[in-house]
Amino acid sequence: MPFNVVFFGPPAAGKGTQAKIMEEKYGLVQLSTGDMLRTQAAAGTELGIQARDLMNQGKLVPDEVVIGMIAHCIDNLEQPKGFIFDGFPRTVAQAQALDHMLGDRGQQIDLVMELKVNDDILIERVEKRAKEEGRMDDTVDAMKTRLEQYRNYSAEVLPYYRAQGDIFVINGMNSIEEVTAQIETILARDLAA
Ligand code: AMP
Repeated sequence: MPFNVVFFGPPAAGKGTQAKIMEEKYGLVQLSTGDMLRTQAAAGTELGIQARDLMNQGKLVPDEVVIGMIAHCIDNLEQPKGFIFDGFPRTVAQAQALDHMLGDRGQQIDLVMELKVNDDILIERVEKRAKEEGRMDDTVDAMKTRLEQYRNYSAEVLPYYRAQGDIFVINGMNSIEEVTAQIETILARDLAA
C-alpha cells in the first residue's frame, strides 16, 4: 500500500531538498507544484505564462491550476511506494481535493511533517539561492509576500491536518543531514507500523 507524505513549511525551509533525498532513499515520488509551475513557465505554456506573474509577486496561483496538475500526476504516475507532496496543499480547498483524489484510489495522507525555520534564516537562504539559481521570486519583496502568505495559509491548512491526526514538527534549522535523520526516524517508524 503506498504511503503518502506531505512536507509542509515556509519557502526555503528545505522541503525540496529533503523530498529529493527521500525520493532516492525510499522510492517515494516527489510532487512539487512549484517545480511543475516553473517548468511550465520556462516552456512558455499558457498555464505557465499565466502563473508566472503571480509567482514572481510571491502570490498563490489559483487552486484549480495546482489541483489540476496534481490530479494529472496522481492519475498518470506509478507510485508503488507513495508520493511526497512538496509545496502542496497550500489551501484547505487543495487539502480537501487531495483527500478526495487519494480517497478515490483507496489511499490517504499518512503523514504530515512541518519543517520549522525562523524568518531571518529563510531570508538568508533565499538571498543565497537567488545567486545560485536565479529564481525570479527569490527577491526580498517577493519573499516578504511569500512569508506573509505562508503565515495566512498555514493557519488554515495545519489545523485541517491536525484534526486528522498528528503533525510531526521538524527543526529545519539543523544541517541537511540532521534534518534527514529526523525525518527518517519518523518515516521508519511509520513505514514499519
Ligand atoms: P514553491 O517552489 O513551492 O516555493 O512555489 C513557488 C510559487 O509557485 C509560489 O510562491 C506560488 O506562486 C506557486 N505555487 C506553488 N505551489 C502552489 C500551491 N500549492 N498553491 C498555489 N500556488 C502555488
